[in-house]
Amino acid sequence: MDILDLSLCELSAAIKAKKISSLEATEACLKRIEKTKGLNNFITVCEEEAIKLSKRADAVISSGGEINPLLGVPIAVKDNILTKNIRSTCASKMLENFIPPYDATAVAKLISAGAVLLGKTNMDEFAMGSTNEFSAFGAAHNALDFTRVPGGSSGGSASAVAAKQTFGALGSDTGGSIRQPAAYNGVVGFKPTYSAVSRYGLVAFASSLDQIGPITRSVDDALVLCKAIFGKDVRDGTSADVSLPDELSGDVKGKVIGIADEFTEGLGEKEREAFFDAADALKKQGAKIKRVSIKSFEAALAVYYVLSSAEASSNLARFDGVKYGRRAESYTDISDLYEKTRTEFLGDEVKRRIMIGNYVLSSGYYDAYYVKALAARTVIKREYDEALSSCDALLCPTAPSVAPKIGSEPDPAKVYLSDVYTVPVNIAGLPAATVPFGHIDGMPLGVQVIGKAYSDGDVLSVAKAVERARG
Ligand code: GLN
Repeated sequence: MDILDLSLCELSAAIKAKKISSLEATEACLKRIEKTKGLNNFITVCEEEAIKLSKRADAVISSGGEINPLLGVPIAVKDNILTKNIRSTCASKMLENFIPPYDATAVAKLISAGAVLLGKTNMDEFAMGSTNEFSAFGAAHNALDFTRVPGGSSGGSASAVAAKQTFGALGSDTGGSIRQPAAYNGVVGFKPTYSAVSRYGLVAFASSLDQIGPITRSVDDALVLCKAIFGKDVRDGTSADVSLPDELSGDVKGKVIGIADEFTEGLGEKEREAFFDAADALKKQGAKIKRVSIKSFEAALAVYYVLSSAEASSNLARFDGVKYGRRAESYTDISDLYEKTRTEFLGDEVKRRIMIGNYVLSSGYYDAYYVKALAARTVIKREYDEALSSCDALLCPTAPSVAPKIGSEPDPAKVYLSDVYTVPVNIAGLPAATVPFGHIDGMPLGVQVIGKAYSDGDVLSVAKAVERARG
């Protein structure tokens, strides 16, 4: 049997039972990464570091030390999550040579749990995008069809998990960047409740929406990664302790699963069919399906692009050629330095977001756009909370379609529309998991389970029921 066919949990058990060494698993991943490097999923592969960490894990195992579920397990990390002494570029020319002096808390926790860091995955520049085409290191490809996008912005992480280059990966999700690429590649993705994972060392895009979370091949695998990275961190004042169960029952008997009419109104026929098949599968396992309504559903997209761009324009002001990152070679004075540096080293999409952000925050438009979006955010949050007060979870498509072809959509505003199902979850700060369910033309669709804030374990448990039904 091929090591790479094992799930993270299966590999963990095999390592514990000394049937497979961490070094063997790590070498198998590195070989696969090399063999399938055309996917362009990694910006940096840290081969030496990975071998070193795997040998260290094997030493712990042979000495009979305490065995954590992640001990010796190879993992990949999105390139906007900082790794000490390992280049972290955010897929931007701006940070092309940036070597962080510290680990993000989530990474430090993985390493101290004994995980083996394989490398840093490709993404849309500064996590802004839905297709991975906005990477300064070239587009990554979908693991199931080379001609299609892997989704974004955590496209490299999702494609790497699907291509079995790694047993799991970390992504970040500001408006869907874990869930949408996971759906496009037929794997599991989970965005935790806002605050469950420390954002320390995650390069900020929109701080009130950003969350780190896992991309894996099974729901149980996602739980293992969550257990390692969750927890309050003194370095992130917004972080909190969110509890998780040791195991997921996947039992939905008697659970009320809500479906908002608005979720399915714009869906194509085949997508709709697959979505309701997932709902039926939960019903067969004893869940009750309840129709609910979330009137603000569509407004969330506009609210998201106003708020996330406003926050991005502020967060990215630090990339000015002075503090860190690259600096233009010649300039006349300080404003010329800023201008040349930012013109040269930031990509078009990032510039677009900064311009949108500055526009909605400018004195003439602040009330009309930014303040209005903040007010709408409260309404959206209230509607989701209300729907969830009478349901255990909501079921929602993850994306309107399967992964599109690379280069097929030149209009950025149309690409934004593909985030319609994922962004409300970030606006409301809720946990949501995507599980593959159904296919169109051989490409997977995803279905999303959305839960109440801090009910991350329940969300994963319902997701496990969906996964079980899929077989
Ligand atoms: N696709 C969305 C955007 O472009 C979401 C990105 C994200 O979650 N990081 O903003």
